[in-house]
Amino acid sequence: MGYDTSDGRSEGQNQPQGEHQNTAPEEHGASKNDQPGTSSNVPHALEELPWNLQLINGSHPLPSDFVPPELVDIPGGSHTIDSRVYDHLMAMLDAADKAGTPPAVCSAYRTYDYQRQLFESRVERCKREKGLEGEGAENEAAFWVARPGTSEHQAGLAVDLIDQNYTELDKAQESTPTQKWLMEHCAEYGFILRYPTSKSAITGIGYEPWHYRFVGVKFASAITNSGLCFEEWLERYLAGS
Ligand SMILES: [Zn+2]
Repeated sequence: MGYDTSDGRSEGQNQPQGEHQNTAPEEHGASKNDQPGTSSNVPHALEELPWNLQLINGSHPLPSDFVPPELVDIPGGSHTIDSRVYDHLMAMLDAADKAGTPPAVCSAYRTYDYQRQLFESRVERCKREKGLEGEGAENEAAFWVARPGTSEHQAGLAVDLIDQNYTELDKAQESTPTQKWLMEHCAEYGFILRYPTSKSAITGIGYEPWHYRFVGVKFASAITNSGLCFEEWLERYLAGS
């Protein structure tokens, strides 16, 4: 059994029984009721996708009043995350810790209003530093900070993790021991690196070698092995190919 999806073409045939992998975080205490994507029907439209595969991007925003059904505190800071993701995140953080590369959580759930503040301050920075105005400044800002409503952080399904010894949110983050470990192992815990550098034209977001999105163990492996970004993979998945 297993997710034999290394060629990236067989995800559409993934059936729920593939969910229980030897490396799945259930071993670490995740509730089986929270195991995502266990519907017996493969969905054919974005609206039919389970919560863990919900697409959130510039074309598919969340309502401004959307809040995750239940948020829980991540220990050691002021961040919260969707309760269905919590055990998976903690298992990943524990494993990274044991590997000697403990990540720092620098962002997790964000409210719509907080995302709006982040976006507006980025717009101001674009105006100041690049001499842009109006829509030009907003479009430039949106490549680096998601517009309010379009951030996976508002869904409580994403977390920004950084190396404790290198805390800059820039490209060099990818070369830190922590990011190397996370990129190699995040799929085992149900996470994908959501904005790979080669896919910016499709995701609409600049390279973020710190932003990890929860999709569930089965799908994370399938998506990672496919070499596709989430948008591309979903398109194929929904087409059943
Ligand atoms: Zn992020």
